[in-house]
Amino acid sequence: MSEQQCPCGQQASYEKCCQPLHQGVHHAADAQQLMRSRYCAFVKQEVDYIIKTTALKQQTLLDRDALMQWSQQTEWLYLDIIDFQPQLDKTHASVEFKVFYQSGANQASHHEQSYFVKHKNKWYFIDPTVEQVLTLKQPCLCGGAKKFKHCCALYL
Ligand SMILES: [Zn+2]
Ligand SMILES: [Zn+2]
Repeated sequence: MSEQQCPCGQQASYEKCCQPLHQGVHHAADAQQLMRSRYCAFVKQEVDYIIKTTALKQQTLLDRDALMQWSQQTEWLYLDIIDFQPQLDKTHASVEFKVFYQSGANQASHHEQSYFVKHKNKWYFIDPTVEQVLTLKQPCLCGGAKKFKHCCALYL
């Protein structure tokens, strides 16, 4: 990796790529950029950014210490975006990706499809591992006006 390349894989320096997002100067323009910047936040141990970019009503359910530990203990190698669906419906998108990391002497990877929701013009990650306290009839976890069952529940 050259010095000019951001850990997220884009051909721009961290200072011009993900750092302004981590510092709240800009917001991710789409779900793919959010995915890249969240991966980069793990590399840079910007755990508050990970929390801030998770669906609004899931944020308080995240374990900050566990995220920090995971971020610090993993030797991140690179991110590979496999597929990006920018508009599953008006407010949802998906990104399929592989994350590569060092595991002992070997390279290991994690393959996942993640879902994202747009709320008030900002994108958020829908975390499928957070235990939902919502019933299907309650307002959605993303903060939107729709009921959970008609909104983000479709993508969990
Ligand atoms: Zn970047
Ligand atoms: Zn929702």
